[in-house]
Formats: sequence, C-alpha cells, structure tokens
Amino acid sequence: MIDGPVDTGYRGRFAPSPTGPLHFGSLVTALASYLEARARRGTWLVRIEDLDPLRESPEATEQILASLTAHGLEPDEPVRFQSRCHDRYQRIIDDLLQQGRAYRCICSRKQLQANHGKHPNGCREGKVVAGDRPYAVRFALHDEDSHWQDLLLGDQHQQVNAETDDPVIRRKEGFYAYQLAVVADDIDQRITHVVRGSDLLEMTAQQCQIYRALGAQIPAWLHIPVILNEQGQKLSKQNHAPALDDARPANNLLSALQALGQDLSGLTNRDSAADILQTATDRWQPSRIHLTAR
Ligand code: GLU
Repeated sequence: MIDGPVDTGYRGRFAPSPTGPLHFGSLVTALASYLEARARRGTWLVRIEDLDPLRESPEATEQILASLTAHGLEPDEPVRFQSRCHDRYQRIIDDLLQQGRAYRCICSRKQLQANHGKHPNGCREGKVVAGDRPYAVRFALHDEDSHWQDLLLGDQHQQVNAETDDPVIRRKEGFYAYQLAVVADDIDQRITHVVRGSDLLEMTAQQCQIYRALGAQIPAWLHIPVILNEQGQKLSKQNHAPALDDARPANNLLSALQALGQDLSGLTNRDSAADILQTATDRWQPSRIHLTAR
C-alpha cells in the first residue's frame, strides 16, 4: 500500500504546453509519468510550459489543470508556470552568452536554408552585438556522437551537429524557447527522471549538452511511444485530437492504461479514479508498454 510521497529522491513531472485542452495522448503521457513516480515512491510535479502566448491560451491552461484534477492526477507541489520564470531564463542566457556557449543570431530561416545551416552573418563568431537589429539567441552545440540509455527504449544514439543544429533558446520576438526552458526548469525543480513522449526523443542529445553547459546532472529518460490516430498521425492539438471528456475519468484512465499495456484485470469504469490509480500504481510495469507504436 502506498500512502503518498516519501523522500526517495525520485522527482518526476508532467510538463504540457497549453496549446489546447488535454487529449487522450497527453493523458497517456501524464499517467505514465505519474505512475512511474508513484511506483518509485517519488514526487510528481506538473509544470505548465506556457512560453508562447501566440500559440497558447490561459483557457487551455485552466482546462488542462481541471482535466488532471478530474482524473485524480494531483501534483505533490504547487504547479509551476514557465511564463513566470522569464528572469531566471534570461540570467541563464546571459551566462551562456558570456561563456561563449550561446550567440546572438540575425540570420533568417531562408538565409540558413540557403547556406545549409551555416551562419552567413558571422553570428557564431560573436559578430552580432546587443542593440543590433532583432536577434535570436542560439545555443552553440559541440559536434558529438551522443550515446545514452533510455529506461524503456534502451541504447540511444544521436548525432549532434555544431552550428547546423544549434537550437534557438530565445526567439527574435523575445520569447524563451522550449529547449532552454525545459532544461532550466528540470534542473531548478531537481527532476531526476523525465518520462515523456518519444516525439521529444530527438531533442534529448541537445538537451544533454545544455545540462552539461549549465554544470547540472542529466536526469534519467524514459520515452513512451506516441499515441497515433486512425490515420497514423500523432494525436495532437494540431491534428484536432478531441478534448478528453472529464465527466468520464474512469473510462479515460482505463483506456490510457490499456494504451500503456498495463494489466486491467478486475478494474471497471465503476471504480473511482483514485482506486484505479492506486491499483495501477501497485501493478505498474513500464516494460509492458508496447514499443511498436514508436
Ligand atoms: N512541453 C512539452 C510538450 O508539451 C513537453 C516537455 C517535456 O516533457 O520535455 O510537448
């Protein structure tokens, strides 16, 4: 019987971008990160990655939080909002600029495309100074043949290319970018284990370089296969995945557990969300997740 968080050192999180209400695919991710944290008697957090006011809305944030509550997925600490962390991101960017691990970039997408990702304006050599025309800030990657272990997918190998892959960490419009904010907050919130969708797998090697540049310990990674719709597309807000019906939490949780390959025996949609979550925690076996959908 698990009574709630005890300090095992494990800290996990679910970190949605509020581009729309929670859909079935995001419930599956939320549930996997929740169950992994609970089964390891760890702490589970929710962080709203509201970095882009042009694509996101406060209503979506409220809907996501209400949906998580309706499904019994309650975080152990207050929800963090990235929109309230700008000063911290800016301090990190200033440090990276100073260390030469980031640079100001005025290149347009077109220019970069025409130059096979090389910067024709000398940005990477530090030729763009503050006060120039609007610039983005990019993280300066090192060339690397990166190998790492995923707790579900096993050995991973990714090629990281300096310059051509350098991710934007602050956009020209002044918005902070996902690649920086996600690492900055996972460090600040002392996240030890990242459980998320495998659509983010390709970001991981770059993120590991950002962790190292910030002198932080890299978390363990567990990427779960992305849920596809009948057309074989990722269930996402962009593909108009329907919002979850919060009036049917038990049904939704059972379907999500099924998508995660878990043992549903004895569970029915007449059980409460809390009972389903407790049983699912006791039985949680990530190795049962089908890998075919990845
Ligand atoms: N905010 C990201 C998303 O909604 C997920 C971040 C992460 O888990 O690393 O796709």
